[in-house]
Amino acid sequence: MPEIAHKGYAPTIWESLADAPHPSISFQSSFWHSVAPAGPVCTRLEGEARTETAIVGGGFLGLSTALHLAEAGHNVTLLEADEAGFGASGRNTGFVVPNLLTGLDPRYAKEKFGPEKGDLLVRMLGEGGDLVFDLIKRHEIDCWGKQTGWMQPIHTGKKTAWLEDRVKQWQDLGRPVKLLSRDEAVAETGSEAYHGAFLDPTGGHINPLAFVRGLAHAAVKAGVTLHIDSRANEIGKKGSEWHLKTDHGTLIADRVLLTTNSTGGGLAPKAEGTQFPITLFQVATQQLDPELRESVLPNDRCSADTRKDLIAYRWTNDNRIVTGGLLANPLGSLERGRTHHLGRLQELLPQLPKLEPEFAWQGRLAAARDYMPRLMRLGDGAFSAIACNGRGIAMTTALGRKLAYWLSGGANEDLPLPITAPDPVMFPKLAPLAFSVWLPLSRHQDAKDIRE
Ligand SMILES: Cc1cc2nc3c(=O)[nH]c(=O)nc-3n(C[C@H](O)[C@H](O)[C@H](O)COP(=O)(O)OP(=O)(O)OC[C@H]3O[C@@H](n4cnc5c(N)ncnc54)[C@H](O)[C@@H]3O)c2cc1C
Repeated sequence: MPEIAHKGYAPTIWESLADAPHPSISFQSSFWHSVAPAGPVCTRLEGEARTETAIVGGGFLGLSTALHLAEAGHNVTLLEADEAGFGASGRNTGFVVPNLLTGLDPRYAKEKFGPEKGDLLVRMLGEGGDLVFDLIKRHEIDCWGKQTGWMQPIHTGKKTAWLEDRVKQWQDLGRPVKLLSRDEAVAETGSEAYHGAFLDPTGGHINPLAFVRGLAHAAVKAGVTLHIDSRANEIGKKGSEWHLKTDHGTLIADRVLLTTNSTGGGLAPKAEGTQFPITLFQVATQQLDPELRESVLPNDRCSADTRKDLIAYRWTNDNRIVTGGLLANPLGSLERGRTHHLGRLQELLPQLPKLEPEFAWQGRLAAARDYMPRLMRLGDGAFSAIACNGRGIAMTTALGRKLAYWLSGGANEDLPLPITAPDPVMFPKLAPLAFSVWLPLSRHQDAKDIRE
């Protein structure tokens, strides 16, 4: 197996100005990396190879599609620039969230994609938590998976009507979601700051790197050829075939699916330009006294609140808390990243002792301007899919399965998304800078909402 250099993704000058990833808080510095079982032993693409379906990108989306396609008897090769899970999939907080971002709900999805596709999308997503935990069971993935529920507490009483409406919209779809009263939310989160909460008991949490590596093992076992250390630098069509060039080889395919999230590095610039890359900081604390678990998230659920600059936290199996979020202004971001998010958590949960940032790392998510997934056509037989938008574990895993059915001959009508042309944002390279403006304004709004 070739040695992987973990070159990763080189940010543009504009992205660096907005939120420079710090070299010392890399993939390997994450807590998940320190405890996840290894991925499968794979080789780099060398020379020329042929495949029926080429998938580019070894995160949840690429691997779920590859796994389900191979299980349906198809010939699949997946190219991954570094190793499986090197992108957002191996670095996130591990919340399995079977719904959309705050502010988006089933009604919005139906307005956006029409009643039929919108309905397919939200039903797929609603079942996404069950799919993740079923895959964990079926493939015996050792990733600390716990289907204990996902909560979204409201940070202001002003959001009560919104919460009631959101709960009703998901219940109308037959989802077993619940509205927690103020007292229940306080007991479930351990924080007096909350006024109620949305609870989806089919959500939960995982070690995301262990899960994505487990998917990679399952995909290889199902027959997928997985090449690591094989960044696709160029994609082009010759006759009826697609050619994907890496530094050491060429993969020739009948059809191609790109699942490179925010890190494609210019492989399909128009499709990549539909997304804003956003850097998120993550911290895992020192091991804490297990008795604290009786007052903080006593049912081992995970919690991500309704602030614009949201506060999210969960326990790990070994009694650490993982939290994190956005950070504006790269200057001094390493130290600020380590302390800022822990400071907010201590304020929210004063019963906790002084928290130390034993592990710190960063990841890059991709958000479309409407925070909705996309399936874009790049040419005859070539597509790019993006379903991240910050809540991607359930969404990408579930979409991967749908894409596999479709690629194995399913009807376009059964897809939960329309197939569109790439619709890049204006000046996409400047988009990350917008977050440096958005974040302080959002924090100001959050503080105002709480005061009121
Ligand atoms: C810090 C952080 C916390 C998050 N927390 C949560 C959470 O708690 N719950 C949740 O649901 N979601 C969360 N998300 C979002 C979630 O992680 C993503 O939605 C999801 O991982 C996206 O999966 P993906 O497969 O689309 O992309 P990725 O996992 O980013 O995979 C893309 C892959 O493509 C590879 N690649 C890129 N370019 C090329 C190329 N040219 N050739 C070959 N390979 C290439 C990359 O190396 C990478 O491995 C979080 C994201 C971040 C960054």
